[in-house]
Amino acid sequence: MNVLVIGANGHTGRLVLKELKNSSQHFAKAMIRKSEQTKDMEELGARPVVADLEQDFSYALENVNAVIFAAGSGSKTGEDKTIAIDQEGAKKAVDYAKEKGIERFIMLSSMGADQPENAPEGMEVYLKAKNEADKHLQESGLNYTIVRPGALTFDDAKGQIIAQPSIEDKSGDIPREDVAKVLVESLTTTETNHKVFEILSGEDSIDEALKGI
Ligand code: NAP
Repeated sequence: MNVLVIGANGHTGRLVLKELKNSSQHFAKAMIRKSEQTKDMEELGARPVVADLEQDFSYALENVNAVIFAAGSGSKTGEDKTIAIDQEGAKKAVDYAKEKGIERFIMLSSMGADQPENAPEGMEVYLKAKNEADKHLQESGLNYTIVRPGALTFDDAKGQIIAQPSIEDKSGDIPREDVAKVLVESLTTTETNHKVFEILSGEDSIDEALKGI
């Protein structure tokens, strides 16, 4: 598959590119917003395209079969950026995918996006934005997979996760590297089609966990 990674220069996005490079079945197109990031993307085996989620970025979705959305406004930006990027940027990506006949869309969402009304203090706008983007994708008619990890770490991959529609004990965390593996494996794991699920580090191999979802 030709896979567009949106947010490719991010911590998780770069790990997604690494996973795509390691797989023999995918080619990566990396959506970045600064041309200085081009060389790094090429070194990670991806074809860069410079585009901004706050502008028209429909051209970035040319010649791709699948999208992995791993962008985000980050915790240090204000509410307006959260809405512009995590919500409206993600919704536009879904709309462009639909316009261009791209069927497969993998969304990196967040644990808690199912119930933004119960968000911890300070997370309300972010989780509402994620909820809106996820709903838009679910209603789009695209073949979606929505992955909702708990807290992300910079640890090396453990390769073992728990994946469930709603994990009872949400107190754990998960390395970004494992999240990247889940996003890439989901592309071709048909059991994840039209599914929304939470992930944390756990006891099952990623393959087993995704096939059992
Ligand atoms: P990150 O390193 O902050 O990466 C976010 C990426 O989005 C960056 O590459 C950034 O570009 C890009 N971006 C921001 N605004 C953009 C715009 N207007 N146009 C195009 N690209 C834009 O994020 P991360 O740490 O890998 O996390 C990925 C996502 O996981 C988060 O955004 C969040 O939604 C989700 N998540 C996080 C946690 C957590 O514990 N942190 C938990 C659950 C889910 P630049 O590189 O140019 O800045």
